[in-house]
Amino acid sequence: MALRVGVIGGGQLARMMIAPAVELGIDIRVLAEDQGMSAQLAATAVGDYRDLDTVRRFAADVDVVTFDHEHVPQDVLRALVADGVAVHPGPDALRFAQDKLDMRARLAELDVPQPEWARVADAGELQRFLDAHGGRGVVKTPRGGYDGKGVRVVSAAAEAEDWFAGLAGGDALLVEELVPFVRELAQQVARRPSGDLAAYPVVETVQRDGVCAEVVAPAPGVDAEHAAEAARIGREIAEGLGVTGMLAVELFQTEDGRILVNELAMRPHNSGHWSQDGAVTGQFEQHLRAVADLPLGDTRPIAPWSVMINVLGGPADAGMLDRVPAALAASPGAKVHTYGKAPRPGRKVGHVNVAGADLEEALRRARSAAAAFD
Ligand code: ADP
Repeated sequence: MALRVGVIGGGQLARMMIAPAVELGIDIRVLAEDQGMSAQLAATAVGDYRDLDTVRRFAADVDVVTFDHEHVPQDVLRALVADGVAVHPGPDALRFAQDKLDMRARLAELDVPQPEWARVADAGELQRFLDAHGGRGVVKTPRGGYDGKGVRVVSAAAEAEDWFAGLAGGDALLVEELVPFVRELAQQVARRPSGDLAAYPVVETVQRDGVCAEVVAPAPGVDAEHAAEAARIGREIAEGLGVTGMLAVELFQTEDGRILVNELAMRPHNSGHWSQDGAVTGQFEQHLRAVADLPLGDTRPIAPWSVMINVLGGPADAGMLDRVPAALAASPGAKVHTYGKAPRPGRKVGHVNVAGADLEEALRRARSAAAAFD
């Protein structure tokens, strides 16, 4: 009987696990939030991932449960584990991707390099941190942020007053120093339950309006020392937090050459999409291998350079699929990935990958294919 992998969440990450699952002979099943989601093709159930009965029913006939997102509540995850279900990543690891305050505290224990930070429960505590850090800082809601939502640069505590007002009793916000970074990097690592680990080359990510726009692999101009440092950080976090499956570590590179951890994702991540067409083993296949405790694949690039460009939704009535032929015509070497999502302005609806020997040429080809969707 085929190995059955159950994915909670029907978004594009689940969708992109489908093709490699078919190739490996894995029976992939998806618990989607709704009808017609990105991963509809493999959806065997539709329901609320916060509802224990729904998740239990879904988990009852799979061999391992994994995720398209980090939002399944801890009590649901822990009930599954108590039922004897293999859950990867498990709740003890996942909590550090669910809560940025927990993450900061744990990374401090592991002595992983990160921005200066504090837990602040009120405006007075925030102001004291700002005063001690040049008058500015980055305030974050510990839970539920994505694509820059839940992140605010402030120069006075009053600018976070609405967030403090919305906190439940006992909760707090995270504040970090405003890191003077020269660029953002990301490190991908895969880890099996048995402990085997494989690291990808560190990549550069370019954000626009808080959303990832482009990724270049490997990060241009990164020296061997920094590449090794990023891989070491990825390994330490994967091992220290007991991560199983893919781990993405978002990093800042500072002017003085330090590498600091921004945040973590315990699943395939936008910064690793290049690997689908640019590495021997893409991150979606690697995630399946890792959570199913199969031998990990080779992470080496298949070309000197890979470029990934996100396609964001335009006006709601513009059909993305209508533009695919133009994108293919614009650049035959480009690989177009569509997410099957209704386009809304700013929403990630697909991406384009190009691998090649020349970085400028790869960028030009990827941009011309992506421009067909503008
Ligand atoms: P999200 O969870 O929404 O992705 P992040 O914590 O990754 O939020 O922050 C989004 C972006 O905000 C980052 O990619 C970075 O550009 C900027 N940012 C976040 N934290 C800091 C910081 N401490 N210093 C400077 N910029 C930051």
